[in-house]
Formats: sequence, structure tokens, C-alpha cells
Amino acid sequence: MTRTGIGYDSHRLVVGRPLVLGGVVIPHARGLAGHSDADAIAHALTDAILGAAAMGDIGAMFPDTESEWQDADSMLLLGTAVARVRDAGWRVVQCDITVVAQEPKLATHVPAIRARIAEVLDVAIGQVGLKGKTNEGMGFVGRGEGIAVIAVANLEPS
Ligand code: MG
Repeated sequence: MTRTGIGYDSHRLVVGRPLVLGGVVIPHARGLAGHSDADAIAHALTDAILGAAAMGDIGAMFPDTESEWQDADSMLLLGTAVARVRDAGWRVVQCDITVVAQEPKLATHVPAIRARIAEVLDVAIGQVGLKGKTNEGMGFVGRGEGIAVIAVANLEPS
């Protein structure tokens, strides 16, 4: 019995913030704005995992009204979600992620991001898919106003 979950997240790109994606700081003139570190990969993946287990979403588990999560390392939130799903009898077996960003180019950062995600999910790096796409200049992503991420995750009974 495999369970599949999907997650989506987007954040604005602003000057004066580091760009953190999948726990990796990526050199760029702008970063993502948010209450936490605004790591859109971590947020989308957390929602995919919680969704597969039908355990709600990241906003309910880590409310942005609580100061505890101010500037939080979102990979710690992801790890906490993985642990709670595990406590409920599920283990993450695989995930796949698409980052939609007009810039920067992600290709050179993909190996480091996959390795960090695999570490937090406690899976082999071969179980973590990650691709970067532009939005062909269209919409808020195409105008460089923000970055969007779509993720899916599969769980099996542990
Ligand atoms: Mg988010």
C-alpha cells in the first residue's frame, strides 16, 4: 500500500535575504521572503509528505504566528514532519521535486540539494529527484518576482 502526496509552495524574491533551497544556500542577488527561511523546496516537500499520510499541512504543524518558527531552518521542520509521519507508521521511500525559477540556474546546485534532502529523509540519493525549470518568461515566476516548487512524495507502511 503506497501513498502519494503532492505539495506546492511559492515565495517572493526580495533583496536582502539569502536564497535557501533544499537547505543549500545558493549565491544570488535576491532571496526568498518569508517568516521562516522561506525554503520553498523544504515547504513543498513537507506538504507532500504530510499529504501522503493525510496528516494536514506545514501551516497547521508549524504556524507562522508562533515566534518559535521565526527564521526557522525549514529542513528541521521537514525532518520533524518525517519523524511524525514515521510515528504514525509511515516511511518516506521516494520523492520528486520541480523548482520553477526564471533565475538563478540550479543545475550546479542539484547534487548538493539532493544529498541534503536524502539525508533528512533518510533515503538513498537515488530516491530524490530534482529538476529546475524556467517559466519561459511568463507570469510571476517568469518576471522574476518569485520561485515556485512542486513536490511529490511516496510513503509505505514502516
Ligand atoms: Mg512556504
